[in-house]
Amino acid sequence: MEKIDIKSLNYQELLAKIEELGEKSFRGKQIYEWLHQKAVMNFDEMTNLSKALREKLKENFYIAQTQIIEKLESKDGCTTKFLFGLQDGSVIESVLMKYKHGNSVCISSQVGCRMGCNFCASTLGGLERNLSVSEMLGQIYAIQNMKGERVSNVVVMGTGEPLDNYDNLVKFIRMLTDEYGYNISQRNITVSTCGLVEKIYKLAQEKLQITLAISLHAPNDEVRKTLMPVANKYSIAEIMDACKEYYEITGRRISFEYSLVKDVNDSKEYAEELGNLLWRKNCHVNLIPVNPIEERNYRDSDTSFIKNFKLTLERFGINVTIRREMGRDIDAACGQLRKRYMDKMEEGEHEDIFHN
Ligand code: SAH
Repeated sequence: MEKIDIKSLNYQELLAKIEELGEKSFRGKQIYEWLHQKAVMNFDEMTNLSKALREKLKENFYIAQTQIIEKLESKDGCTTKFLFGLQDGSVIESVLMKYKHGNSVCISSQVGCRMGCNFCASTLGGLERNLSVSEMLGQIYAIQNMKGERVSNVVVMGTGEPLDNYDNLVKFIRMLTDEYGYNISQRNITVSTCGLVEKIYKLAQEKLQITLAISLHAPNDEVRKTLMPVANKYSIAEIMDACKEYYEITGRRISFEYSLVKDVNDSKEYAEELGNLLWRKNCHVNLIPVNPIEERNYRDSDTSFIKNFKLTLERFGINVTIRREMGRDIDAACGQLRKRYMDKMEEGEHEDIFHN
């Protein structure tokens, strides 16, 4: 019999399975708490269960592993990047950002990505597979275990397109915010998407209180197509309609991400075009100086362009922030660290590449 990934079962599913094994349902509650509140990594740590029950659990289930294989601290003092090894040998990355208001973790949703945005390192090797619910949760739990501090905010902005792994993503959000589990507020979760329109409509119907962030990166389809292949499939107008519905149904303000790339999308004209597009929409714009990757020739905008871009948008009454460039020294942009690690592994350099 194939063992079941126990950490991907939600509360009701786990209780049902435990009852199937002839155990009382309160045992299921205890096990759920061990897995999702105390974040234990093996059954023997579940000390209020009998040895016999722990053996039974081992025969029927496994706890998906997210093992920290590298940890890199940025000189900025608040960003830490983690490389995780998964059960099948896949490698993913996550980032912890410590803010005054709490600990925010940026997690991956897939191993690799198939969206092909050409400034992004995560997509260079294509998509390998979706992450399971337990592997998404596992990134947060492992970081909390290592730091000994609770994670208060989660952003699904690491490697992968979360809406391309829709069912696991939604289950992950429901479990992470479950009162029997880790119990984070939905308002403290942000999901970032390159704009898969049908999935945005579907997500609106889930009636979650999360923040939806759209990676726009251009004020019109023509420029967007030069950066993001997904723009050939969905127009900005279609994305805007979907966002309008998302806002109407959930009441949650949309965030737009705009990575500023020198001479590509950072001119005053483009800022005005974006201002017109978003005028009177209840939204927020997050400007990100592009983090150049060596495989592409893009450069980040000059500081004066970034400031002017912000000022122009503000003249349209739009709420704008500039994302702080955290952790650049540790390859904190999407997928860069993992990419470097995988390249080195291929070259056969297994020694400690991160501490030179
Ligand atoms: N696939 C999702 C989430 C992962 S990417 C999405 O597209 O939103 C998270 C954000 O980082 C996106 O806005 C993405 O466009 C941006 N990003 C990726 N690589 C980047 C880089 N090198 N510099 C700046 N932003 C980058």
